[in-house]
Amino acid sequence: MFARFRHRFTRAKRARLLRRTRIGYSTWHDACRRLPVLGYLDREQRPRLRRLAGLFLAEKTMVGAGDQALDEHLCTAIAAQACLPILELGLEAYGGWRTVIVYPDTFLVDHREVDDAGVLHESRQELAGEAWEQGPVILSWGDIARAGPGGDLDGGIIIHEVAHKLDMLSGGPNGMPPLHRGMDPAAWTEAFSAAYEALRDAVAAGEATAIDPYAAESPGEFFAVLSEAFFETPARLQASFPRVYAQLALFYRQDPAAADH
Ligand SMILES: [Zn+2]
Repeated sequence: MFARFRHRFTRAKRARLLRRTRIGYSTWHDACRRLPVLGYLDREQRPRLRRLAGLFLAEKTMVGAGDQALDEHLCTAIAAQACLPILELGLEAYGGWRTVIVYPDTFLVDHREVDDAGVLHESRQELAGEAWEQGPVILSWGDIARAGPGGDLDGGIIIHEVAHKLDMLSGGPNGMPPLHRGMDPAAWTEAFSAAYEALRDAVAAGEATAIDPYAAESPGEFFAVLSEAFFETPARLQASFPRVYAQLALFYRQDPAAADH
């Protein structure tokens, strides 16, 4: 009896939460229209992504930096892209951080790193996105909005940064997020190591690559760049690195290449 009451109570609470966090239809439609990366989603997945994006907006705090103004269209577009990789994983996968900082354009970041020989290296980088371990996700809206033709938004920058967030659930960004039960860590490592080495060799030889050569920077960047490719150009990724595609399909519990584009 109590269990049934609690179940009803939970359901009512959940319904209230969903009502409170629902993204308006025209705002949602406008965001989807500008996001070709969502093109593979079917009629069952789209409303689920809308609900998840509403919960994301309720749970996370968006902050405009510099003179970046935030409106519901911008926030909805960011939430939709951020939630695409976790559509089948749930918002719990983004635990441990709360803030998305949005700059109007690329931002400068000072990096200090001490190498194995104890030498301090200082560098200043211009970034379109960054994800801090247990800290915020930082994005350049200028880069997201500038990239696509006809007002389309670039979904890749946000997917890249939230992929780092998923990777960092198991420590630093090393290209190995916590795998689901039933996934084989050895199969993951084999597929990713072979593909990473192949890409590094191709980049070192100056060959044209099917994947953004920035992926050759480190295993962490490889995972983030290939996560972008998994959602943005899935058929090309599957053709280039079929075993990596298969592992990412198991990890994200999605198969974008199987859908018609
Ligand atoms: Zn990165």
